[in-house]
Amino acid sequence: MSDIIDDANGRAQLDLERAIAAARNSNGLDSPEPTGECLNCQAPVIPPARWCDPDCQQDWQLRTRGR
Ligand SMILES: [Zn+2]
Repeated sequence: MSDIIDDANGRAQLDLERAIAAARNSNGLDSPEPTGECLNCQAPVIPPARWCDPDCQQDWQLRTRGR
């Protein structure tokens, strides 16, 4: 039974994260707010850049979507 509850909670959490992401996205893409650091490896980047290179962006997107 706990498996079902955990699954529902996981889905609710995912929906919430998607809703938050959608609210932040004005262009419909995965675009979290720039923090001045690469979202993948925390290397310093200049906003509005959010990743230090395309590899980091792809890696980050794969990881965030895979949850
Ligand atoms: Zn990086």
